Amino acid sequence: MGDPLDSREAQAAEIIDRLHEEYPDSTISLQFSNRLELLVAVVLSAQCTDERVNEVTEDLFENYETAEDYAEASEEQLAEDIYGVTFHNNKGGYLKGIGRKLADEHDGEVPDTMSELTDLPGVGRKTANVVLQHGHDVVEGIVVDTHVQRLTRRLGLTERERPEAIEDDLTSLVPREEWQAFTHLFIDHGRAVCTARNPDCADCVLEDICPSSKLDGETDLASGESWT
Ligand code: SF4
Repeated sequence: MGDPLDSREAQAAEIIDRLHEEYPDSTISLQFSNRLELLVAVVLSAQCTDERVNEVTEDLFENYETAEDYAEASEEQLAEDIYGVTFHNNKGGYLKGIGRKLADEHDGEVPDTMSELTDLPGVGRKTANVVLQHGHDVVEGIVVDTHVQRLTRRLGLTERERPEAIEDDLTSLVPREEWQAFTHLFIDHGRAVCTARNPDCADCVLEDICPSSKLDGETDLASGESWT
Protein backbone atom coordinates (compact mmCIF):
# COMPACT_ATOMS: atom_id res chain seq x y z
CA MET A 1 0.00 0.00 0.00
CA GLY A 2 1.07 3.56 -0.58
CA ASP A 3 2.15 5.85 2.23
CA PRO A 4 -0.24 8.72 2.82
CA LEU A 5 1.28 12.04 3.87
CA ASP A 6 1.47 12.91 7.57
CA SER A 7 -1.65 15.04 7.79
CA ARG A 8 -4.93 14.87 5.91
CA GLU A 9 -4.45 18.50 4.83
CA ALA A 10 -1.10 17.64 3.26
CA GLN A 11 -2.55 14.49 1.69
CA ALA A 12 -5.43 16.50 0.19
CA ALA A 13 -3.09 19.21 -1.14
CA GLU A 14 -0.78 16.66 -2.78
CA ILE A 15 -3.69 14.78 -4.36
CA ILE A 16 -5.21 18.00 -5.73
CA ASP A 17 -1.86 19.08 -7.21
CA ARG A 18 -1.32 15.77 -8.94
CA LEU A 19 -4.87 15.56 -10.28
CA HIS A 20 -4.65 19.10 -11.67
CA GLU A 21 -1.57 17.97 -13.59
CA GLU A 22 -3.31 14.85 -14.80
CA TYR A 23 -6.63 16.47 -15.75
CA PRO A 24 -5.85 20.09 -16.66
CA ASP A 25 -9.21 20.64 -18.40
CA SER A 26 -11.35 19.06 -15.71
CA THR A 27 -14.83 20.55 -15.50
CA ILE A 28 -18.51 19.65 -15.47
CA SER A 29 -19.39 17.33 -18.36
CA LEU A 30 -23.12 18.11 -18.59
CA GLN A 31 -24.13 20.25 -21.58
CA PHE A 32 -26.14 23.42 -20.92
CA SER A 33 -26.34 26.99 -22.14
CA ASN A 34 -28.26 28.72 -19.34
CA ARG A 35 -29.20 28.23 -15.68
CA LEU A 36 -32.51 26.51 -16.36
CA GLU A 37 -30.82 24.00 -18.65
CA LEU A 38 -28.14 23.45 -16.01
CA LEU A 39 -30.74 22.79 -13.31
CA VAL A 40 -32.68 20.37 -15.51
CA ALA A 41 -29.52 18.52 -16.58
CA VAL A 42 -28.33 18.12 -12.99
CA VAL A 43 -31.73 16.82 -11.83
CA LEU A 44 -31.71 14.31 -14.70
CA SER A 45 -28.16 13.20 -13.88
CA ALA A 46 -29.02 11.69 -10.49
CA GLN A 47 -28.02 8.03 -10.73
CA CYS A 48 -27.54 8.38 -14.48
CA THR A 49 -24.47 8.97 -16.63
CA ASP A 50 -23.75 12.46 -17.93
CA GLU A 51 -23.40 11.03 -21.44
CA ARG A 52 -26.94 9.68 -21.37
CA VAL A 53 -28.27 12.96 -19.98
CA ASN A 54 -26.50 14.92 -22.72
CA GLU A 55 -28.04 12.70 -25.39
CA VAL A 56 -31.53 13.30 -24.02
CA THR A 57 -31.22 17.02 -23.35
CA GLU A 58 -30.04 17.78 -26.87
CA ASP A 59 -33.65 17.48 -28.10
CA LEU A 60 -35.31 18.37 -24.80
CA PHE A 61 -33.78 21.85 -24.67
CA GLU A 62 -35.02 22.58 -28.19
CA ASN A 63 -38.60 22.00 -27.06
CA TYR A 64 -38.51 23.37 -23.51
CA GLU A 65 -37.01 26.83 -23.28
CA THR A 66 -38.73 28.34 -20.24
CA ALA A 67 -39.89 27.28 -16.79
CA GLU A 68 -43.46 27.70 -18.05
CA ASP A 69 -42.80 25.15 -20.82
CA TYR A 70 -42.04 22.51 -18.18
CA ALA A 71 -44.95 23.63 -15.98
CA GLU A 72 -47.46 23.32 -18.79
CA ALA A 73 -46.36 19.95 -20.12
CA SER A 74 -48.04 16.82 -18.74
CA GLU A 75 -45.93 14.51 -16.59
CA GLU A 76 -46.50 11.75 -19.14
CA GLN A 77 -45.21 13.93 -21.97
CA LEU A 78 -42.17 14.96 -19.95
CA ALA A 79 -41.44 11.35 -18.99
CA GLU A 80 -41.60 10.44 -22.67
CA ASP A 81 -39.35 13.35 -23.64
CA ILE A 82 -36.67 12.27 -21.18
CA TYR A 83 -37.02 8.56 -21.92
CA GLY A 84 -33.62 6.91 -21.71
CA VAL A 85 -32.68 8.68 -18.49
CA THR A 86 -33.00 6.56 -15.34
CA PHE A 87 -36.24 6.99 -13.35
CA HIS A 88 -37.74 9.01 -16.19
CA ASN A 89 -41.24 8.84 -14.69
CA ASN A 90 -40.18 10.36 -11.36
CA LYS A 91 -37.90 12.87 -13.00
CA GLY A 92 -40.66 13.94 -15.40
CA GLY A 93 -42.73 14.80 -12.33
CA TYR A 94 -39.83 16.72 -10.78
CA LEU A 95 -39.33 18.79 -13.93
CA LYS A 96 -42.99 19.74 -14.07
CA GLY A 97 -42.96 20.67 -10.37
CA ILE A 98 -39.75 22.67 -10.78
CA GLY A 99 -41.18 24.53 -13.77
CA ARG A 100 -44.35 25.38 -11.85
CA LYS A 101 -42.51 26.65 -8.77
CA LEU A 102 -40.00 28.68 -10.78
CA ALA A 103 -42.80 30.24 -12.84
CA ASP A 104 -45.01 31.00 -9.82
CA GLU A 105 -42.46 32.05 -7.23
CA HIS A 106 -39.29 33.12 -9.01
CA ASP A 107 -40.45 34.84 -12.22
CA GLY A 108 -39.23 31.83 -14.15
CA GLU A 109 -35.62 32.32 -12.98
CA VAL A 110 -33.40 29.83 -11.18
CA PRO A 111 -32.80 31.09 -7.62
CA ASP A 112 -29.32 31.60 -6.20
CA THR A 113 -29.61 30.39 -2.62
CA MET A 114 -29.23 26.91 -1.19
CA SER A 115 -32.56 27.09 0.66
CA GLU A 116 -34.60 28.24 -2.34
CA LEU A 117 -32.98 25.65 -4.57
CA THR A 118 -33.49 22.76 -2.15
CA ASP A 119 -37.15 23.80 -1.90
CA LEU A 120 -37.60 22.71 -5.52
CA PRO A 121 -38.88 19.16 -6.17
CA GLY A 122 -36.09 16.63 -6.73
CA VAL A 123 -33.36 19.09 -5.72
CA GLY A 124 -31.11 18.05 -2.83
CA ARG A 125 -28.00 19.70 -1.52
CA LYS A 126 -25.74 18.08 -4.10
CA THR A 127 -27.83 19.28 -7.04
CA ALA A 128 -28.16 22.74 -5.50
CA ASN A 129 -24.39 22.98 -5.00
CA VAL A 130 -23.73 22.19 -8.66
CA VAL A 131 -26.28 24.78 -9.78
CA LEU A 132 -24.87 27.41 -7.43
CA GLN A 133 -21.30 26.75 -8.55
CA HIS A 134 -21.83 26.56 -12.29
CA GLY A 135 -24.89 28.75 -12.67
CA HIS A 136 -24.24 31.50 -10.18
CA ASP A 137 -20.52 31.24 -9.34
CA VAL A 138 -21.46 30.72 -5.70
CA VAL A 139 -19.34 28.07 -4.00
CA GLU A 140 -20.95 27.05 -0.73
CA GLY A 141 -19.63 23.54 -0.40
CA ILE A 142 -18.02 20.56 -2.09
CA VAL A 143 -20.23 18.39 -4.25
CA VAL A 144 -19.92 14.80 -3.04
CA ASP A 145 -21.14 12.37 -5.68
CA THR A 146 -20.48 8.64 -5.79
CA HIS A 147 -16.95 9.08 -7.23
CA VAL A 148 -15.94 11.67 -4.63
CA GLN A 149 -17.42 9.48 -1.90
CA ARG A 150 -15.45 6.41 -3.03
CA LEU A 151 -12.12 8.09 -3.79
CA THR A 152 -11.90 10.26 -0.69
CA ARG A 153 -12.39 7.17 1.46
CA ARG A 154 -9.88 5.13 -0.55
CA LEU A 155 -7.32 7.89 -0.30
CA GLY A 156 -7.68 8.28 3.46
CA LEU A 157 -9.20 11.78 3.42
CA THR A 158 -12.25 10.69 5.39
CA GLU A 159 -13.64 7.66 7.14
CA ARG A 160 -17.19 8.88 7.09
CA GLU A 161 -19.86 7.38 4.85
CA ARG A 162 -22.73 9.79 4.24
CA PRO A 163 -22.10 12.46 1.57
CA GLU A 164 -23.04 15.33 3.95
CA ALA A 165 -20.58 14.07 6.57
CA ILE A 166 -17.85 13.60 3.96
CA GLU A 167 -18.48 17.14 2.72
CA ASP A 168 -18.00 18.40 6.27
CA ASP A 169 -14.62 16.68 6.53
CA LEU A 170 -13.52 17.88 3.10
CA THR A 171 -14.41 21.53 3.58
CA SER A 172 -12.12 21.63 6.58
CA LEU A 173 -9.24 20.02 4.64
CA VAL A 174 -9.45 21.61 1.21
CA PRO A 175 -8.77 25.31 0.55
CA ARG A 176 -11.96 27.09 -0.49
CA GLU A 177 -10.59 28.10 -3.89
CA GLU A 178 -10.29 24.40 -4.75
CA TRP A 179 -13.79 23.34 -3.68
CA GLN A 180 -15.28 23.50 -7.16
CA ALA A 181 -12.36 21.89 -8.98
CA PHE A 182 -12.04 19.18 -6.32
CA THR A 183 -15.25 17.46 -7.38
CA HIS A 184 -14.42 17.44 -11.08
CA LEU A 185 -10.88 16.20 -10.54
CA PHE A 186 -12.15 13.32 -8.42
CA ILE A 187 -14.90 12.49 -10.92
CA ASP A 188 -12.36 12.44 -13.77
CA HIS A 189 -10.01 10.17 -11.82
CA GLY A 190 -12.89 7.95 -10.69
CA ARG A 191 -14.02 7.46 -14.27
CA ALA A 192 -10.61 7.07 -15.87
CA VAL A 193 -8.56 5.11 -13.33
CA CYS A 194 -10.02 4.58 -9.86
CA THR A 195 -13.21 2.86 -10.96
CA ALA A 196 -15.56 1.23 -8.48
CA ARG A 197 -14.96 -2.41 -9.38
CA ASN A 198 -11.51 -2.53 -10.88
CA PRO A 199 -9.24 0.44 -10.20
CA ASP A 200 -6.06 0.53 -12.26
CA CYS A 201 -3.64 1.09 -9.38
CA ALA A 202 -0.61 0.21 -11.52
CA ASP A 203 -1.34 3.20 -13.72
CA CYS A 204 -2.44 5.65 -11.02
CA VAL A 205 -0.59 8.90 -10.29
CA LEU A 206 -1.63 8.61 -6.63
CA GLU A 207 -0.45 5.04 -6.06
CA ASP A 208 2.52 5.84 -3.81
CA ILE A 209 0.35 7.87 -1.41
CA CYS A 210 -2.83 5.77 -1.57
CA PRO A 211 -3.50 3.57 1.48
CA SER A 212 -5.91 1.45 -0.60
CA SER A 213 -3.52 0.65 -3.45
CA LYS A 214 -4.11 -2.89 -4.67
CA LEU A 215 -0.45 -3.34 -5.60
CA ASP A 216 0.61 -4.25 -2.12
CA GLY A 217 -2.38 -3.47 0.05
CA GLU A 218 -5.26 -5.71 0.89
CA THR A 219 -8.17 -3.48 1.73
CA ASP A 220 -10.34 -1.10 -0.24
CA LEU A 221 -10.91 1.60 2.37
CA ALA A 222 -14.00 2.76 0.46
CA SER A 223 -15.85 -0.46 1.23
CA GLY A 224 -13.67 -1.73 4.08
CA GLU A 225 -13.46 -5.03 2.25
CA SER A 226 -10.55 -7.00 0.93
CA TRP A 227 -9.72 -6.53 -2.78
CA THR A 228 -9.67 -10.27 -3.43
S1 SF4 B 1 -6.51 3.62 -8.52
FE1 SF4 B 1 -5.73 2.45 -6.80
S2 SF4 B 1 -3.92 3.59 -6.13
FE2 SF4 B 1 -5.16 4.97 -7.39
S3 SF4 B 1 -6.45 6.10 -5.96
FE3 SF4 B 1 -7.61 4.31 -6.68
S4 SF4 B 1 -7.25 2.68 -5.16
FE4 SF4 B 1 -5.68 4.29 -4.88
